[in-house]
Amino acid sequence: MGVVEELATALPDGALVTDPDVLESYRHDRTVWVEAGHPAAAVLPGTTAEVATAVRIAAAHRVPVLPRGAGSSLAGGATATDGCLVIGLERMDRILSIDAAEQLAHVEPGVLNADVTAASADDGLFYPPDPASRTYSTIGGNIATNAGGLCCVKYGVTRDHVERLEVVLADGTVIETGSTTVKGVAGLDLTSLFVGSEGQLGIVTRAVLRLRPAPEGAATLVAFFPSLGAAGQAVTRVVRDGLGLSLVEIMDHGAIVAVDDWHNMGLDRDAAALLLMQSDAPEPQRTHEIARAGEHCDAAGASYVAVTGDPEEGEQLLEARRLASSAVDRAPGVAIHEDVCVPRSRVPDLIGRIEQIAARFEVGLATMGHAGDGNLHPTLLVGEGEEAFARGLAAFSAMLEATLELGGTISGEHGLGRIKGRFLEREVGAPNLAVQRAIKRALDPDGVFVPGQWLP
Ligand SMILES: Cc1cc2nc3c(=O)[nH]c(=O)nc-3n(C[C@H](O)[C@H](O)[C@H](O)COP(=O)(O)OP(=O)(O)OC[C@H]3O[C@@H](n4cnc5c(N)ncnc54)[C@H](O)[C@@H]3O)c2cc1C
Repeated sequence: MGVVEELATALPDGALVTDPDVLESYRHDRTVWVEAGHPAAAVLPGTTAEVATAVRIAAAHRVPVLPRGAGSSLAGGATATDGCLVIGLERMDRILSIDAAEQLAHVEPGVLNADVTAASADDGLFYPPDPASRTYSTIGGNIATNAGGLCCVKYGVTRDHVERLEVVLADGTVIETGSTTVKGVAGLDLTSLFVGSEGQLGIVTRAVLRLRPAPEGAATLVAFFPSLGAAGQAVTRVVRDGLGLSLVEIMDHGAIVAVDDWHNMGLDRDAAALLLMQSDAPEPQRTHEIARAGEHCDAAGASYVAVTGDPEEGEQLLEARRLASSAVDRAPGVAIHEDVCVPRSRVPDLIGRIEQIAARFEVGLATMGHAGDGNLHPTLLVGEGEEAFARGLAAFSAMLEATLELGGTISGEHGLGRIKGRFLEREVGAPNLAVQRAIKRALDPDGVFVPGQWLP
């Protein structure tokens, strides 16, 4: 029996997708410029047992398996290869329980990020990691990429909020990792190993997430700057001051105009950069923190600074930032989304290098990012044609090189996926990479999971 026939026999009706028109929607993620193959089939399981069955059958037929959440990867992580089996976790989307006493959420991997916070609100809790894709990316995808977001500057990233996992391994074995106690050091920390492993070591089928008490309110600051460098200086001043801000985000001129063209938000289209900052501390600390942040913006040369305590206005400003990636994607031709992270004091240097590189390779540029984390997303607007695309890729590589020279990392939050694996050795060194590959061999000796990624 072939792999598809065996899957059809073993799985319940509706779990197997072979219709070429439907399969088309499982080929690409949001990294549209990465070449996608044609999967042999997709499985949409409803239970952990079905995931394990599908993995076992695929492994027996030596068919590579690609786990998939919502396909919002900006690193080609969910891009299909020819003949692979996509296992889409979208139907495993139940919030199993909110344990208010322990401040934990027990969820399936297909739950959308924003739904966890929505489900915890009645208990006065929230789930802090908030990627700009929070309304459509899944918890499974967030865990696999160790996703960051807008308020990581205060609360940390996904890894800081995952207590326990259920994972299907490459031979179909199901294991549980971690513990739901506040402390727990029994054995190696396998939870941390799976968080950020980009689907290469196993498929997450359940997670216990740490929740936090929801803030009572927030004050939001918006500042416009006549140069990107001045905005970078403001970030450095704010970071050096040690303010406990819950959000420090940046958008450059290209990003501002793209968002304003799309949603007509009344942003200052002449500004070279915009900073958004937020404090969600209790009063009077909130007012103090946001006032200090405003002083730093003024001192760095801001052309306009305003603060609002109105939740709706604050949310509208944040929405401008959340829309930025999708807004710049509307430009004609290819957009290559970078994701680089440097020590926070080097943000002004990184901004300068990004601008030089874009000019040198003659590519358009729109930069946004989590400036308070040192994590920027310069988006290269490459235009049409092969020659322009080649220049875009050269600029992409040059930005990674520049980031490493500044003591940074080639990915702050999107992961390496299919686009950055070849740069990893340069960052971590050959001995480190050898250890990573040994772990992959130990857990997945036949290379069942995700072909073409950074752990071959
Ligand atoms: C407009 C926009 C804004 C974004 N903003 C942010 C941001 O602020 N911060 C950020 O970190 N990212 C951001 N992203 C990137 C993306 O949303 C994240 O990487 C997200 O975590 C991916 O989740 P997903 O459900 O779409 O996973 P997918 O894209 O489907 O998969 C991503 C990776 O995870 C693996 N995977 C998925 N589910 C599982 C599972 N259950 N078990 C094991 N492996 C699995 C896949 O194999 C793949 O390698 C943004 C993307 C877009 C399009």
